[in-house]
Amino acid sequence: MARTGKNTVVEEFERRRARMLRSFGACMLLIAFSLCVTQIADSFPGLFGIGRKGWMAFAAAQFAAGVVFALMGFRQYRCPVCHQIPRAHDKYYLGVAVDPEKCPNCGVRLR
Ligand SMILES: [Zn+2]
Repeated sequence: MARTGKNTVVEEFERRRARMLRSFGACMLLIAFSLCVTQIADSFPGLFGIGRKGWMAFAAAQFAAGVVFALMGFRQYRCPVCHQIPRAHDKYYLGVAVDPEKCPNCGVRLR
């Protein structure tokens, strides 16, 4: 498992990047879906015998799950060598580098 070849770093980082993008996608879907649920609960109170409060709790749970997905994807999105999250160049912006060529911390090639 502890292979440190150049290609394995690139492959491992690509895997983590794909996982991060998937969890962000899941986050967006869950949050969009939770907003739909609140709309539906407003328009059709008592749908399926579940009251507005029940639907709101359901929507809140989905929203929370979406945030958890995003955090999980973000937390595992690290350089396989130095285990730092590759941040975008702008230090005043809390974004991550979504497609970095090299690790901004240790300089290892990630593509
Ligand atoms: Zn690194």
